[in-house]
Amino acid sequence: MAWNVLNNIRQSLGAKIRRLHADSLCRWVADVCSKPYAMSPHPVLVIAPHQDDETLGCGGLIAMKRDLGVPVSVIFLTDGSNSHSDRPDLGAFTSDQLINTRQHEAVRALEILGLPRSDIHFLNAPDGKLDELTGLDKQTLVDRLAAIMSRHKTLEVYVPHRKDRHKDHEAVWDLVHDALAQADVEHELYQYLIWMPWRSPIFWKCAPSDLRGALCLEINGVLDRKIRAIDAYRSQHSVLPPGFLGRFHEPYEVFFRPRNGTSNGHGRVDVQRC
Ligand SMILES: [Zn+2]
Repeated sequence: MAWNVLNNIRQSLGAKIRRLHADSLCRWVADVCSKPYAMSPHPVLVIAPHQDDETLGCGGLIAMKRDLGVPVSVIFLTDGSNSHSDRPDLGAFTSDQLINTRQHEAVRALEILGLPRSDIHFLNAPDGKLDELTGLDKQTLVDRLAAIMSRHKTLEVYVPHRKDRHKDHEAVWDLVHDALAQADVEHELYQYLIWMPWRSPIFWKCAPSDLRGALCLEINGVLDRKIRAIDAYRSQHSVLPPGFLGRFHEPYEVFFRPRNGTSNGHGRVDVQRC
């Protein structure tokens, strides 16, 4: 009993420290270390490993682009079936039920943000195993990504940060680069943060330089819709760490341009070094 109490106190304290770190780090990047994001008329493609990443990382951007009449597409790479694997105590879902539930939640969340069902793509790769895909399985996923990208001449592509401290999120980087090369579409690449600020206290396994090239988008005008879209993901609220969602309710979103010439875009944005 005493051990359980101590363990609960330790977990609660750990979550509070992580939240303080994540909230402070993101606020520091937004306030001190970023330039204003310049809205463009270019079509947007958001790549999300799981159903909720797109809304958490880019929900405000999606709503603002749609309000301007800009085409937006969202691609979910995995089927989302793994979200409750660490919480058997919440075993209310079978795998199929979880897949269906998360797809319905995604459609509802994106409807709130202004996206029609026809612009939402579920590719249903195995959740938690994107980094293990090889051979034909990997090429099939790249082909499907490239086919969707090829519908546009120019794209802004949004992906999780290449050091987002989640193996599915980090695996997206290579998949998207292979698909962009195959599609041969003119593009600008942007990264969004989901897990890195939470799982990298004091830049553990990442570096301050990983947060270079930040662009900050004010989303005050659509924040209420973003929060409603986050609320649509009911199945995820019980499995995310306490306090994790707080910083996604802030009135800004931050995106990072890649370094090392990994974009072939229009050169519209002057990347700031901080
Ligand atoms: Zn995710």
